[in-house]
Amino acid sequence: MKTGGKGKISYALQAINIIPLLFFGIIIMLLGTHWFTQCMYNEVETELSHVACNLSMMFDTIYPGDYELIGESSYQLYKGEYNLTNNYTLIDRVKEDTGLDITLFYQDTRVLTTLTGNNGVRIVGSGAPSVVTKDVLNTGEAHFYTKSIIYNSSYFSFYMPLMNSDGGVIGMLFVGKPTAEVDAAVQKAIYPLIVADIVLVILVSLFTFMYTKRFVSSLLQIHGFLQEVSAGNLSANLDSSVLGRSDELGEIAHSALNMQRSLRTLVEQDALTSLANRRSGDRKLREIVRDSAATGKDFCVAIGDIDFFKKVNDTYGHECGDLVLKNVAYRLRSHMHGFGIASRWGGEEFLLIFEDKNVEESMKILDEIMDDIRTLENEYDGHRIKVTMTFGLTRGNTEDVTALLRSADEKLYEGKTTGRNRIIL
Ligand code: GH3
Ligand code: MG
Ligand code: MG
Repeated sequence: MKTGGKGKISYALQAINIIPLLFFGIIIMLLGTHWFTQCMYNEVETELSHVACNLSMMFDTIYPGDYELIGESSYQLYKGEYNLTNNYTLIDRVKEDTGLDITLFYQDTRVLTTLTGNNGVRIVGSGAPSVVTKDVLNTGEAHFYTKSIIYNSSYFSFYMPLMNSDGGVIGMLFVGKPTAEVDAAVQKAIYPLIVADIVLVILVSLFTFMYTKRFVSSLLQIHGFLQEVSAGNLSANLDSSVLGRSDELGEIAHSALNMQRSLRTLVEQDALTSLANRRSGDRKLREIVRDSAATGKDFCVAIGDIDFFKKVNDTYGHECGDLVLKNVAYRLRSHMHGFGIASRWGGEEFLLIFEDKNVEESMKILDEIMDDIRTLENEYDGHRIKVTMTFGLTRGNTEDVTALLRSADEKLYEGKTTGRNRIIL
């Protein structure tokens, strides 16, 4: 069935489904990235602070005592009785274990450090960034910086104040991790998240697209069907995929089909007898004539009329006449079932078409019909009314439908004028 072109509804449905999904995907991606980065930063801060605390304790355990700068021309840093100057054993060991850089400041001056300059020499003797001096040395509080620049390199840095037993801040401990390293770890973790997000959005979009496509296709099928019915095609078909839907569209499709059936009944069925009406009988006759011309199959046509029917009406009333018509029609339909078609041709006249039957076969069926109607007792208001019928039977030997009907009609007339209650061939 023709379903017409895709209309605006298709695009509108796709848009209202997919645009919010894309927005949702982007927002999830941005929020996810932000949240994950923040988590990573917090984790780095925790890691650096733990290492700083542990290292401070290790200094206190291995080298008990207070920090003190001793000397006149070249100063040496002591902790208790231990000279820490140039003693890199502990910080190098921790760097080896953790991969983190470490610096021990006396006030704001690097005394011990794992950091090296471009020439590969440890940058001892250099000063701390002024912001750190202000935040840590002056306040005595630890501080975490996400991106602090040390000798042209960016670090995640944790600065912890070092105190002597009198509570005075004498320096700082720095534990740092290169920013590039953290960013690489963040990216490594976030990329799969972003890919998963994109794949999810694509999959859901694809699913939505397919569903919407099926939905719109069903809608267009129903639209096409209704267009055909409204144009008068009462034999138009509706695709089973639409009728098979279990949602409201399926229900609409069934309603449209029922509407078509009701229309067909109204247009093609006789209201009193439920037989095919004259329009439908005529159409069927033309179909059979055409079919027979193509295949060479036999067929016969008969027109029958109830004898003295007016008398039934006059004697028992119109209602009784209707009852007789219904009873006769019922017999005609029963006998013709499987052999062809019976239609109400008008008043008390009926057209019978014997499909795929020659004259002898048709005659036989007609004889049985005649007998049945003759013996039929129409019970009405305590009366048993019997009627007879006269038939004109003609062989389907022409493609001229009018000539065929005229021939059957003439034979019927002959039967009426030669005594009725008979078949004229
Ligand atoms: P003949 O044997 O020559 O056919 O005689 P007849 O009385 O059957 O024929 P006539 O044409 O004189 O009368 C037919 C009658 O059928 C007249 C009409 O009122 C009646 N009739 C036609 N349609 C209906 C109907 O739907 N219901 C009833 N009750 N009567 C109908
Ligand atoms: Mg009659
Ligand atoms: Mg008549």
